[in-house]
Amino acid sequence: MLVDLNTLKTAGPTITALTRPFWDAAAEGRLAIQHCEDCGKAVFYPRPICPNCWSRRLVWKDASGRGWLKSFSEIHKPGHPGWLPAAPYVVGLVELAEGPTMLSFILAGTRPLHIGDMLRLAPTAIGGRVLPAFKPVEPGAEEKPK
Ligand SMILES: [Zn+2]
Repeated sequence: MLVDLNTLKTAGPTITALTRPFWDAAAEGRLAIQHCEDCGKAVFYPRPICPNCWSRRLVWKDASGRGWLKSFSEIHKPGHPGWLPAAPYVVGLVELAEGPTMLSFILAGTRPLHIGDMLRLAPTAIGGRVLPAFKPVEPGAEEKPK
């Protein structure tokens, strides 16, 4: 990818009271997800109630930024023309270490991607805002499990 992603003219998110903590954290280079104080499960996307136990006691916490690639797609024809200068680029389903899956921009690099690749949060300026993208962990750079 040769384009500076921050110069893209892409549509921004629709920020609501529910999702504002996510976007505020993203702007600071963090990935915040909800956690349920009753059942302990992590929750993403943002919701008013826990999808596991229906509790309303959801609190925001920073995620570890670790995950793995569950699925991915190389985008050649973006759904929004603002992304065209960056095409082809990769989006993927990232299973976070905390459990939830999120769709994210993947900074693929030159090495081919594979399902199961370990990923690391890589906050990236795209279209004038910082988004929680992910990048593959280079072989040999994996951290020891805790
Ligand atoms: Zn719960």
